[in-house]
Amino acid sequence: NLAISEGEILGHLHSKGIKPDGVQKLDKYMVKMICKEYEVEVIDAVPTRLEEMAIKKGILDEDDLDSLEDRPPVLTIMGHVDHGKTTLLDYIRKSKVAASEAGGITQGIGAYKVQVPIDGKLQPCVFLDTPGHEAFGAMRARGARVTDIAIIVVAADDGIRPQTNEAIAHAKAAGVPIVIAINKIDKDGANPERVMQELGSTGLMPEAWGGDIPVVQISALKGENVDDLLETVMLIAELQELKANPHRSAKGTVIEAGLHKSKGPVITFIVQNGTLKRGDIVVCGEAFGKVRALFDDKGNRIDESGPSIPVQVIGLNNVPIAGDEFEVVGSLDVAREKAELCAELLRNERISAKAGDGKVTLSSFASAVSAGKLSGLDLHQLNIIMKVDVQGSIEAVRQALQVLPQDNVTLKFLFQATGEVSTSDIDLAVVSKAIVLGFNVKAPSSVKSYAGNKGIEIRLYRVIYDLIDDVRNAMEGLLEPVE
Ligand code: GDP
Repeated sequence: NLAISEGEILGHLHSKGIKPDGVQKLDKYMVKMICKEYEVEVIDAVPTRLEEMAIKKGILDEDDLDSLEDRPPVLTIMGHVDHGKTTLLDYIRKSKVAASEAGGITQGIGAYKVQVPIDGKLQPCVFLDTPGHEAFGAMRARGARVTDIAIIVVAADDGIRPQTNEAIAHAKAAGVPIVIAINKIDKDGANPERVMQELGSTGLMPEAWGGDIPVVQISALKGENVDDLLETVMLIAELQELKANPHRSAKGTVIEAGLHKSKGPVITFIVQNGTLKRGDIVVCGEAFGKVRALFDDKGNRIDESGPSIPVQVIGLNNVPIAGDEFEVVGSLDVAREKAELCAELLRNERISAKAGDGKVTLSSFASAVSAGKLSGLDLHQLNIIMKVDVQGSIEAVRQALQVLPQDNVTLKFLFQATGEVSTSDIDLAVVSKAIVLGFNVKAPSSVKSYAGNKGIEIRLYRVIYDLIDDVRNAMEGLLEPVE
């Protein structure tokens, strides 16, 4: 409540040519402007950048802005195989889940909550249990944005490896802040300094060197400095001002789903806004139903679950896919209708994905260029994901492409690595509207069909000049469609 009369504010607005009719709510920016002039602090009246993003993604509504409360951060651990992701998750689970909490032992529902002591107070955070960028990329390709912060583990005795780079590319494409954990510092042959240098040269300048990437040196095996890592993560979370409105019906994302022989479909949700309650009617992709029971990550039966908190649910009629969104609706009829609509949309999507709608291929790019349709901002830039046989080829192909004239169209290398084309490359291509080029590598047939379903084009080359010719022609709008 302000010590300023309504009349005064109205008068002030009139003087600015704004005439609220007494019923109409002032929009948030107007409120901010008035508060500024009266030197009043604004509390949650104006969406932050993150809240705006959440509104755009349909997670928050404008109406939520007046009822926002802090929510715990949701974290994902990524990194190269054997660098210690599972060890770190296990250590955190064992050491940070209070034994006093009923059950005490986590149940493997796909995510779990831990309490981190910050300034003597316990603060909750949530870890997604399936480490790795494949899961992260697959969820993102389905449009889900669940992770707030990515912890990327790099073994101090091995350094940055291909999957480290993939993980970094995925986190960057998602706009998720990165914290680096240099792991295995207890090991003979550990060389954290070298990892720092490698980070610097991949464009992730450590804070200690004046950059903006927090780096913590840990031993996941011994638990050394893991508290520092968690504190660092919580600090980043605090800067993010993660909020949701617990006082509304729930919506969120599927983390894991399976079929239990007696319980039927068993689904883990992360609630992203609102509170999910027993008896709620949920629709989730093509699945729907009434929530018969809720379980927390310790296997305890609960009545409700709020923002960021993972919860296992039974009562739906079908098994959805990780990354599907769910929402609570008013009645089973509405739920059924929405589920049917979704099934239909999915069918259409499959058809249009096959037709390549909305996705970039080299030839669609070429026809857009030749039709002079470059006004669409995306088309000024051709995003490239490149897989090659050996490390040396990366620079060779890149340099050969970079000398192409880029007056109309610029080339952007989103991700380059050695190895076969993988489904995770395809997922990255989907979310970043990129094409996938392979040089002297294969794409397994499973990956080809995955790409086909997503409408992503993989072009494989054996001769570098062919690759360069195709890209040049596409940039000049001359490439003939393949078929
Ligand atoms: P992931 O593939 O990334 O999940 O890696 P894991 O967690 O399975 O770890 C791979 C191997 O590294 C295991 O044998 C772990 O015991 C070992 N390891 C993980 N963290 C550490 C550490 O901090 N120090 C040492 N010495 N070994 C570790």
